[in-house]
Amino acid sequence: MTNSANNQTSSQASATPASIPLIGHFIHGEVVRGQSDRSQDVFNPATGEVSARVVLANAADVSNAVAKAQAAFPAWSDIPPIRRARHMFKFLELLNTHKDALAHAITAEHGKVFTDARGEVERGIDIVEFACGIPQLLKGDFTDQVSTGIDNWTLRQPLGVVAGITPFNFPVMVPMWMFPVAIAAGNTFILKPSPTDPSASLMIADLMQQAGFPDGVFNVIQGDKEAVDALLEHPDVKAISFVGSTPIANHIYATGALHGKRVQALGGAKNHMMIMPDADIEKTVDALIGAAYGSAGERCMAISVALLVGDVADKIIPLLLERTKKLKICNGKELDAEMGPIVSKAALNRITTHIAKGVAEGAQLLADGRDHQVNGHEHGFWLGGTLFDHVTPEMSIYKEEIFGPVLACVRVADFATGLDLINAHEFGNGVSCFTSDGNIAREFGRRVQAGMVGINVPIPVPMAWHGFGGWKKSLFGDMHAYGEEGVRFYTKQKSIMQRWPESISKGAEFVMPTAK
Ligand code: NAD
Repeated sequence: MTNSANNQTSSQASATPASIPLIGHFIHGEVVRGQSDRSQDVFNPATGEVSARVVLANAADVSNAVAKAQAAFPAWSDIPPIRRARHMFKFLELLNTHKDALAHAITAEHGKVFTDARGEVERGIDIVEFACGIPQLLKGDFTDQVSTGIDNWTLRQPLGVVAGITPFNFPVMVPMWMFPVAIAAGNTFILKPSPTDPSASLMIADLMQQAGFPDGVFNVIQGDKEAVDALLEHPDVKAISFVGSTPIANHIYATGALHGKRVQALGGAKNHMMIMPDADIEKTVDALIGAAYGSAGERCMAISVALLVGDVADKIIPLLLERTKKLKICNGKELDAEMGPIVSKAALNRITTHIAKGVAEGAQLLADGRDHQVNGHEHGFWLGGTLFDHVTPEMSIYKEEIFGPVLACVRVADFATGLDLINAHEFGNGVSCFTSDGNIAREFGRRVQAGMVGINVPIPVPMAWHGFGGWKKSLFGDMHAYGEEGVRFYTKQKSIMQRWPESISKGAEFVMPTAK
């Protein structure tokens, strides 16, 4: 798979040493250096070493990609959906063949453990499978004889060039929340991945090309704010899908709307797990340890707050502490690793600052991950599992998203107090409730103010056909990612009303009709 721009023609000389690969854009079927002379380091977080540099697009690079995607749109959107789906089936086949290569690339730049990275790829593949059903998903509604001799039907048509701006924490799965549905629906697509772990985007581009998608249908622009702002302002970009932190999601939503675009902007989270006194303690601890520390807590669906109801804290905390201290934290390449490094030095500093604040605010620090070291990987970005007890709602470690392996335990008297806390929080992405009481489970599901709810399920990421999205400051816009909401987001409805004065004979046809 091609993923380097080192050998490409460039309008600017690259300062990158030949030994360090330069990760470029993918525009109209080619990996290119682009016009901007800006680039940034890409790290292996387990070793702390620079593994590559990635180019950072300017407005001219974005304009070039949009022009190519715009030129590809008329022909692509005119192809029958079943033939678009056949390309998607081919892509699916290639993804299944290259699953491990993609997972290795994720581990090398993000740091998450290989088995988890493979799970990420598989959850992305689910969406591609969903998108393969596009002929069925695009079927419209039809009413015969709305008036004498008149029929009325609705159809959904693609928007044009659409863009996806994605975060570092799922470099394969989150782009696949977007482009398979958008492209299958007939749009052309520009992906702007996180510059922190950009290699997977070019591997995906290569597979899309091998699957036979015409040049210009799927493009990748590497970059940062400059590239994002150029996409937001470009008149030929019709819709923006964003996933990332809340302040940026808010900016994307406001700026995109100002420029007349359709926007879905998924933001940050502070996911609570409410644990009732009647919950199965062993199973709950298993679920909580994975949900809090899996992927080093760098998941938008990670559990970062445990609400311990009544006397359950006394049963849970000792077990939780024991398990937190035993987490196997090492290079994610090792197959038995449970947690890898933090994605970057800057993220590590941000998380340790949060931990220090928690201590200063009076929370009880039961497990402190700040001194964690991994032999042979002394320069890696390491942090151990961190556990706080007696956290209160006024503390910053309760209010703010930390996005690291830090679990805050809050003790509450009863179910109603716990529910009020969740509902008052500014985020509303995922929540879960562990209980053996069906009525509590039902009340929780109905009354909780969040987009995705788990009952005895710690991380309730919806399946491909259900759609993903939070409430409150976890999502700006009104449509969730993927599923049927995704199809609606990437298409616009048209209603056609038709009357024919007389029937027209086409003559005899003896051949089975097929899509052409
Ligand atoms: P981020 O907001 O820093 O970056 C997301 C994207 O926005 C990247 O492509 C980045 O290059 C771009 N970006 C960054 N700063 C920008 C700016 N000032 N202007 C324009 N674009 C900018 O997020 P991240 O650190 O990459 O990812 C972690 C965050 O993403 C967490 O807050 C997490 O909760 C959130 N997240 C949310 C979901 C969800 O579905 N709600 C899923 C995954 C991650």
